[in-house]
Amino acid sequence: MEDKLISEDVRNSLKKAFTRLTDTVTIEVYTQEGMNDSFNEAAEIFMKAISQLTDRIKVNFYKTGDKAAGQRDVKRSPTILIDPDKCKIRFTGSPAGEEAAAFIMTLLMASTGRTYLSDDSRKRLDRLREKRLVRVFVSPTCPYCPQQVIYAVSAAIEKKELISVEIIEIYENPDLAEKYGAMSVPTTFLGEELMAAGLQPEDSFIESVVEGKKVEYVMPVGREEMRDYDIVVVGGGPAGLTAAIYGERSGLKCIVLEKANVGGQISVTPVVENYPGFAQIAGKTLVDLMAKQTLEYSALLQGVGVSDVTNKDGILEVSTGRGTYRTRALIIATGAYSRKLNIPGEDRLAGRGVGYCATCDGYLFKDGKDVIVAGGGNSALTDALYLDSLGAHVTIVHRRNAFRAEDRLQQSVFQRNIPVEWDSIVEEITGEKKVEKVSVRNKKTGKKKSLSAQGVFVAIGYEPNNSIAKKLDLELDNEGYIRVDAQMRTSMPSVYAAGDITGGIKQIVTAVSQGATAALTVFEDIASPYWKKAL
Ligand code: NAP
Repeated sequence: MEDKLISEDVRNSLKKAFTRLTDTVTIEVYTQEGMNDSFNEAAEIFMKAISQLTDRIKVNFYKTGDKAAGQRDVKRSPTILIDPDKCKIRFTGSPAGEEAAAFIMTLLMASTGRTYLSDDSRKRLDRLREKRLVRVFVSPTCPYCPQQVIYAVSAAIEKKELISVEIIEIYENPDLAEKYGAMSVPTTFLGEELMAAGLQPEDSFIESVVEGKKVEYVMPVGREEMRDYDIVVVGGGPAGLTAAIYGERSGLKCIVLEKANVGGQISVTPVVENYPGFAQIAGKTLVDLMAKQTLEYSALLQGVGVSDVTNKDGILEVSTGRGTYRTRALIIATGAYSRKLNIPGEDRLAGRGVGYCATCDGYLFKDGKDVIVAGGGNSALTDALYLDSLGAHVTIVHRRNAFRAEDRLQQSVFQRNIPVEWDSIVEEITGEKKVEKVSVRNKKTGKKKSLSAQGVFVAIGYEPNNSIAKKLDLELDNEGYIRVDAQMRTSMPSVYAAGDITGGIKQIVTAVSQGATAALTVFEDIASPYWKKAL
């Protein structure tokens, strides 16, 4: 059974990772028969397996009725406490899938006392005087969750006396999800109050914990020091990562600044089937491979959002919550964000059944729940197939009588008999505290119908993330995408763009190609600036 849970390869990498453990970490696992039995078993097997890989991890097993449970205030099953005599880190639910990686990181941080946080974040935390309880709802399939968990756990390790953290597996604890109104992941609460829906940049997360409320924009911590680069790449999707690989290989000093975590849209694409070399690969796995390769060459920071860019006589200054980066060239690879339906109920029920990331939140609907997918492109059909494979009852609502998606995806949808409401639009989403119904209107007949639904996934395309381009007053097309030439130069010397932010065909192969082109053009332009030649 343990062998099934942890493959030989994973066992070997864990053994290697555990050689970095310094102090012994004690894990307490609490279970109760009859409550989440299959998850109790998974937690017990996983904890036993990792404790057998090193003598620096000790695991003690208890029942929730034991005296120890009373002393630690444990009532839920399974509950896992990390070094409870030293810090306050609790996993309510069995850490599986994406969460298993965050759990292993937690053990490493608890043992070494060294966290992921930057010096700036530590300085911010020094302002904290009051106690804080941070609750993060997560799911095993959510690629954004581990990063938010790592910030939370890091904060609890940095400020052991003041910060307690509870990581809650949403699927195993539906009553807690209901109580807090959490229906998407990651969702973070400070005590009982909502702090953030979605992954935050590191500085916003820490500042929110210190301030006791959501803080969106964060000023640098009074540090004037500049860091100099040849290329600053903004955005850590395939285009940005490839640009950094090509830039460094050309001898240029590069850094990638990613405001959330690496990957962009592919990290939430369940399966990629059209990237040459991989017949079928999970989007997250593909981007993890790209990020690993990038790190062999270039600096890459996650959780670092860019607040401003200025151009002072050809030297660009990129401001972030971690300080300012001075660069000879900027490559904008900021991609795009999900378009909204803009209909009644969409905003009010966002995170309460309305979602834009089926990979993250689809797990909640896996037991035959009714789910609507709006859209007819590649994203909508990929999401519908993923949700169907989880066991949800999916209906696609598409505004025309033919899909835009590629033929392979269409054939799969038809083979699986996923119902489609053709020529129809979702007009309203209703429900008191969470999604209960959607109102769908057929555009041809004018007929309306009400469909029962617990989830609505909106997959109707993207809008460009063009705030930096606007700050620099770059030329944009009618839809707001950055205009580039064939070398990926924008309308401003020293500023380049690559990937989805340039519009056009939005594929991983085109993004990596544009990233490479942009970096190689920077190399050429630094050696021989075209804007000087033109003078
Ligand atoms: P998309 O290709 O732009 O398709 C958007 C879909 O939503 C279209 O079917 C469109 O209908 C519909 N739509 C747009 N606005 C709407 C509105 N206000 N109300 C109702 N329906 C609306 O977007 P996408 O599927 O998100 O894909 C984005 C890009 O990523 C594309 O270039 C796509 O090829 C790429 N992608 C590729 C893959 C893959 O290769 N496997 C996977 C995912 C995404 P109409 O058809 O009537 O315009």
